Amino acid sequence: MIHPSAEVSPRARVGKGTQVWNEAQIREGAVVGESCIIGKGVYIDRDVVIGSNVKIENRASVYRGVTLEDGVFVGPHVSFTNDRYPRSVTPDGRLRTDADWEPERTLVREGASLGAGAVVLPGLVIGRWAMVGAGSLVARDVPDHALVMGSPARHLGYVCKCGRRLEPSGGAGGQWRCSECDRSFELAPVASET
Ligand SMILES: [Zn+2]
Repeated sequence: MIHPSAEVSPRARVGKGTQVWNEAQIREGAVVGESCIIGKGVYIDRDVVIGSNVKIENRASVYRGVTLEDGVFVGPHVSFTNDRYPRSVTPDGRLRTDADWEPERTLVREGASLGAGAVVLPGLVIGRWAMVGAGSLVARDVPDHALVMGSPARHLGYVCKCGRRLEPSGGAGGQWRCSECDRSFELAPVASET
């Protein structure tokens, strides 16, 4: 389903079962997998790669250089970035063009979630099933299953595939357990951050 007000480039690929809602734009060279939901007003820049079963909520912006693996959740108004040294003009005063810079790459691994309004700085990896709190500024890589929050986002703990907090379950080797669904995961201790 592609809403008539959406703008999907004929040079983009959109998989079967994917819904593209009002006023969304999917640019040339972008690849979107199957059974995704692309919400109202979402912007998907050229050459972005998106897996299957991905939900992107209203007004989120996914810029060139970003890859979202299967099952990723992108909350409303999330912004990715791809330029570490943003300038409109070159030092000699000319408008910067694509020839003047290379977008950095950002990878969001399977199942990770980004809360509403999060901003992701360029060149980062957000691990599998990680959870980024609403309004966070993600300024460093996020480990698998990590819960990060704040500006800049700090590593506060771990979450399960079901999204609930994991508790350390003792024993050797960093076992973490979910009291909601009883799954266990082996994860490093949460590193203290300065
Ligand atoms: Zn769980």
